[in-house]
Amino acid sequence: MSAPRVSFEFFPPQSIAASFRLWDTVQTLAPLDPSFVSVTYGAGGTTRKLTHDAVATIGKNYGLNVAAHLTCVEATRAETLEIVEGYAAAGVTEIVALRGDPPKGADGFTPARDGFASSVELIEALAATGKFNIRVGAYPDQHPEAATAQADVDYLKRKIDAGASAAITQFFFEAETFFRFRDRCVAAGIDAPIIPGIFPIENWTKARNFALRCGTKVPAWLDEAFAAATRDGREELLSIALATEMCTELREGGVEDLHFYTLNKPELTREVCAALGVSPKAALSEVA
Ligand code: FAD
Repeated sequence: MSAPRVSFEFFPPQSIAASFRLWDTVQTLAPLDPSFVSVTYGAGGTTRKLTHDAVATIGKNYGLNVAAHLTCVEATRAETLEIVEGYAAAGVTEIVALRGDPPKGADGFTPARDGFASSVELIEALAATGKFNIRVGAYPDQHPEAATAQADVDYLKRKIDAGASAAITQFFFEAETFFRFRDRCVAAGIDAPIIPGIFPIENWTKARNFALRCGTKVPAWLDEAFAAATRDGREELLSIALATEMCTELREGGVEDLHFYTLNKPELTREVCAALGVSPKAALSEVA
């Protein structure tokens, strides 16, 4: 089997120490020749400028194809479109368009006054500019706000029809979850690529809590596996083995692209990529 195409998600740094970690992560993973990398947008739009700066700097310094995440939270349409114009002016052509999570402490999503009320509205506005390749989020385990699993698929169809070219999924723990979701998408007439989001687990307790907040189902066998691995000090080995195994199953099921949630820690992602045959590509000029 050939190596998959990979892409990586980063988050914008909020301190000097975090900046060093981000650059270390980019430097470690850029040689793996990702098809794109993306930079998240803090909940509630809190990293508006940092996201922009990280996107522009990574693009300029590493020549990578960088996608900026953008959400509808706490911004008017005019403010959001101003950010969008800033990206276009900086030569950014890729956006991951999301409704967004509300700021900490808020009780669910409330559209800002004069703001985009949904991801579909944001996607329509982005598509109308004709300047961006738009990717969107998708939820194999069902988004916590979705009435049913089918409602999620129907909503994804609306997002693709509004102008998105591909979807990146929330992380999940079993390949079968992705395959069932992909089947439902195909049945609903979605023909855009659906890229699985892969989360190599650095810390099981944190990952588990995060999963529960996102609606990602936690299988009992995973709890047991991590309990045993933690006892033996083999958490990292287990994480690499599990992510590699799941990615291999996805590849065998016809998946060509894998998107890694790096959390700005490159080691596990690099190990999983290596196990999948994704090796650094050095330019001839660098080795000659
Ligand atoms: P949507 O697809 O718009 O909504 C999620 C589900 O809720 C839908 O599938 C549908 O079932 C239901 N729903 C929502 N609105 C409606 C409606 N109007 N009518 C009917 N049903 C509706 N969050 C951030 O804050 N910053 C980020 O950078 C970020 N990056 C992400 C990247 C990826 C790949 C993913 C998968 C998620 C990311 N998130 C991010 C989290 C995301 O913002 C949250 O999951 C949010 O709650 C939903 O955003 P969405 O655009 O994916 O949802």
